[in-house]
Amino acid sequence: MSRIVYVNGEYLPEDEAKVSVFDRGFLFADGVYEVTSVLDGKLIDFDGHAVRLERSLRELDMAAPCGKDELLAIHRELVARNEISDGLVYLQVTRGSDGDRDFVFPGADTQPTLVLFTQSKPGIRDSAASKNGIKVISIEDVRWGRRDIKTVQLLYPSMGKMMAKAAGCDDAWMVQDGAVTEGTSNNAYIVKGRKIITRELSNDILHGITRAAVLRFAAEAQMEVEERNFTIEEAQAADEAFVTSATTFVMPVVEIDGAQIGAGAPGELAKRLREIYIEESVKAGV
Ligand code: PMP
Repeated sequence: MSRIVYVNGEYLPEDEAKVSVFDRGFLFADGVYEVTSVLDGKLIDFDGHAVRLERSLRELDMAAPCGKDELLAIHRELVARNEISDGLVYLQVTRGSDGDRDFVFPGADTQPTLVLFTQSKPGIRDSAASKNGIKVISIEDVRWGRRDIKTVQLLYPSMGKMMAKAAGCDDAWMVQDGAVTEGTSNNAYIVKGRKIITRELSNDILHGITRAAVLRFAAEAQMEVEERNFTIEEAQAADEAFVTSATTFVMPVVEIDGAQIGAGAPGELAKRLREIYIEESVKAGV
């Protein structure tokens, strides 16, 4: 079945949706994105994603293609037209183009490009990975210094996933100056005793929308949270480890660089947080 996608004001069958070869997203990775998950046909954490998108655009001096209300309407329209129950909506904004290749940004009157499409993911709530946990390797973090901006420069994270795959694992945790920054497409956590430890927010990591929600739920459930750096060695000796992202929610990690974490099965705290996150987020979905 062909999807209906959104491109610059139009809802089109996916094979008719086109963007210019001069688009700066294509030529310079001059674009930002958001991924909002959908559960029971409802958008999860939409507001957080919309606010982060505004910030990414502002940090890059990029014009906003439209306001938050219109963005919500487009998301909802796509979910309805593509009959998405569980899945996601991908959104990308690029600086567009004035019809030529130039390092210098085009004039302020250049229209940004706005593209959205859906992906159906039945079963994401109870995936095998969420039941068994995932295995990660560590790799050096060689990304640029503004990881707080959600740009489409995803080549290194993509290479990281391939390195993990080649090692028989599922994902990679990136390490800078001896400390874990984050996963290739998620925020990283360890649990020691009853304490949840995760790197503090800075330009070194993406300010995960799921991270914010999970830390809020953890505090409400009287769980102790410490935001600080940790090493791979500390993670290998932890009782539990997990990652969070919009599309994987809370995902247990059971092995890091070949070392088993805890009992080698998803930890109790990670399992509980996953349940709480999914339950509360669906309730609050729009
Ligand atoms: N860090 C990185 C590098 C990511 O790509 C992502 C997901 N896009 C996250 C963290 C998690 O962010 P969120 O919870 O907003 O999906």
